[in-house]
Amino acid sequence: MSRTVPISFEFFPTKTDVGAEKLRIVHQQLQSLQPEFFSVTYGAGGSTRERTLAAIQDFNQKGSAVAPHLSCIGDHKIRIAELLDLYKAQGIDRVVALRGDLPSGQVGLGELPYAEHLVRFIRQHSGDHFHIEVAAYPEMHPQAQSFDADIQNFVAKVQAGANAAITQFFFNPDAYFYFVERVQQAGIDIPIAPGIMPITNASNLIRFADGTGAEIPRWIRKQLQGYGDDSQSIRAFGHEVVLKLCERLLAGGAPALHFYTMNQSQPTRQLVMDLGLSTPN
Ligand code: FAD
Repeated sequence: MSRTVPISFEFFPTKTDVGAEKLRIVHQQLQSLQPEFFSVTYGAGGSTRERTLAAIQDFNQKGSAVAPHLSCIGDHKIRIAELLDLYKAQGIDRVVALRGDLPSGQVGLGELPYAEHLVRFIRQHSGDHFHIEVAAYPEMHPQAQSFDADIQNFVAKVQAGANAAITQFFFNPDAYFYFVERVQQAGIDIPIAPGIMPITNASNLIRFADGTGAEIPRWIRKQLQGYGDDSQSIRAFGHEVVLKLCERLLAGGAPALHFYTMNQSQPTRQLVMDLGLSTPN
């Protein structure tokens, strides 16, 4: 039996050597699920440049397909070009191109203020070498002027040269299907992989959702709050909710699933196994 849809796993770079060692173990554990690629986030303004690079190089050397994230806001073209050249020289051919968010108070958008400009710059600098993924927001980006304006901006990123997209996490599958439909009506037909956030910790989830504009439906929020400190019940409930979400997304035609692993293997692994997606291609 072959896998029906590709899966991919996202990590963030760790701050310490101990964290980096733990991440190596998590990577090894998830590598056996044969994802299409592992991605590693990149701090806006280049704040995690060295640590993102180190993790990417490590996974690449271990034979995994990798997709470093690159953000442009507050950074310089010359520094981004250096990274692109380095990745190309190492045989890396996929990147996730983002605007990023500058820390509050920091001014100056830099030479490439939006992801659209970064995508165009990557194409100008590296031609067709990279498969470029961009971000998508089924529940609208929090700074967008309107849903329609956000769709138009997404379309512009794709027209600038993006090949595929990964969404912000969400728990309402209808928001995803509606977004895909609207984008298709605008003449865009690239694969848009839902970004899946396993639920393992109520307060962290609420913090991330508040920061990204993702909605946690009331029934999920209330139930999580009701479990208090009972982490086992939170994980069991969270697994059931996210499993059903993934099943609905796949049944509705989602072309891939991208997991925000939060640098943990077990919750993502369990989802992949229960979805029947563990069989290698
Ligand atoms: P853009 O596509 O540039 O859009 C940003 C906002 O500006 C939107 O509201 C859009 O509608 C609007 N806009 C776009 N173009 C224009 C224009 N020309 N004029 C006016 N408005 C415009 N952040 C990181 O710092 N590092 C990461 O590694 C990272 N990884 C991520 C991975 C995924 C899959 C996702 C979904 C998000 C990630 N983020 C990351 C967060 C992301 O950087 C933020 O959500 C950021 O606020 C927007 O980035 P973007 O690439 O979507 O921006």
